[in-house]
Amino acid sequence: MWNQFSMTRRRLLGAMTALAGSGLIPGAYAGEASGESDADAASESPRRWCIRNATVLTMEPGRPPLEKADVWVVDERIEAIGEKLDSEDSEMINGEGCIVMPGLVDTHNHMWQTQMRGMFGQTEGSLFFPLTNRLGEHFRPADTWVGEYLAAMENVGAGITTSVDFFDNNRGPEHAQAALEALAASPLRARLMFGNESKTSGNSIDLEHLRELYDGWERYAERGRLSLGLAWRLPSDLSDQDAMAMKRREFDAAREMELPIAVHVSGEEHHAMFQRLIDGEFLVPELQVVHATNAREEHLDALLEAGSSLALTPITEHRVGYGLTRLSHFERLERLGLGIDGNALAGRGDMFEVMKHAALTELGASEDQTGINCERIVSLATRIGAESIGMSDQVGTLTPGKQADLIMLDTRRANLGMLPTEPYAFVVFAATPANVSLVSVGGHIAKRDGQLVDIDEDELASRIDASLSHLRDYL
Ligand SMILES: [Zn+2]
Repeated sequence: MWNQFSMTRRRLLGAMTALAGSGLIPGAYAGEASGESDADAASESPRRWCIRNATVLTMEPGRPPLEKADVWVVDERIEAIGEKLDSEDSEMINGEGCIVMPGLVDTHNHMWQTQMRGMFGQTEGSLFFPLTNRLGEHFRPADTWVGEYLAAMENVGAGITTSVDFFDNNRGPEHAQAALEALAASPLRARLMFGNESKTSGNSIDLEHLRELYDGWERYAERGRLSLGLAWRLPSDLSDQDAMAMKRREFDAAREMELPIAVHVSGEEHHAMFQRLIDGEFLVPELQVVHATNAREEHLDALLEAGSSLALTPITEHRVGYGLTRLSHFERLERLGLGIDGNALAGRGDMFEVMKHAALTELGASEDQTGINCERIVSLATRIGAESIGMSDQVGTLTPGKQADLIMLDTRRANLGMLPTEPYAFVVFAATPANVSLVSVGGHIAKRDGQLVDIDEDELASRIDASLSHLRDYL
């Protein structure tokens, strides 16, 4: 059955490739995994480079900001950090007036829907859930590619170097393939959380395809930059035993493959959902709970005890009326991250805005101007966020040996022009994606002098137009 389908798929993809013509974007939905073929792009940029004389926030626990420090990168890793490093054989990048810090970690996103930005309003038909359900049905693989790629490039440009992508419009193997190709074509470090096509959890996730991807992951992994997980849901009717049994099969399959699992806890039944996770013994270290905005104390205690993680997405949680996201409510959790939750719904792929929004919400609600810790908030978007998704051995701090996922903020740009004596507050309250002058993912410089280096804007614009002209018919 699968082989037969594969042949059909190959023919279909061949036809699509012909239609796509000679797209200039590497791997632009051409139908097969890019594998080693565009392995790289990266080879064009220097793989020995050193940022000189910057303010460096390593985000390592207890390590204060370093002044006039160098960050030396060799191949995909950080070689050394310190003053006046002996790195003469490397390209020198002037870091004066700049802050260098780890790339931002977006622990929850829905990247497929990015071209729906600007479509969500406050009327019945334009609200987020009905509109994404309606339009999502008409997404073709090529539309999926556009949404994923657009989000990935926007994120990297904004200093986000890692995103966890809850792929919940997985309408079939071609759609998953398109999502993986888009992520492979971008420089972003990403984890595709493999789900199904429905927010109502009516149908089972295609575990056969998930298993096939898992078994052949080396082909998709882009040498470790891409990884796989399960975008899981509880049944919409928690008392439906058959649906629960199906969800348990999905959960067990992912655990057997040792894949990370993400689940939403939100909406009117969020307390009952959380309780179901506890009662069903689904709280495991591999599980990431998303939102849980007004979670009960005893539920958070259970999460902490089980070692599960939590992702907060304050901008979208507020936009869809889940409640007020108070950082203080989640303070005691050890594995906690922040996320965008859909560039389209959030408005932008902008973790600076997420940090600032979280900070201001806490300050306003607590009526206490000392009620936040900016270093902690930046840590949530870097080190602690990376720990929460099990990637702290690779990213999240500037540490020799780790992947060179780092960003540089130019404080001399027009809106700043300051000497940040409070660098963490500066990052939370003042910085924007426009200040991100350099982005490196695994040592590959993806943004330089404030410009994305691997993007063909015209080609991308025409792909967005083609997708929108198709989707417009179903609005
Ligand atoms: Zn979500």
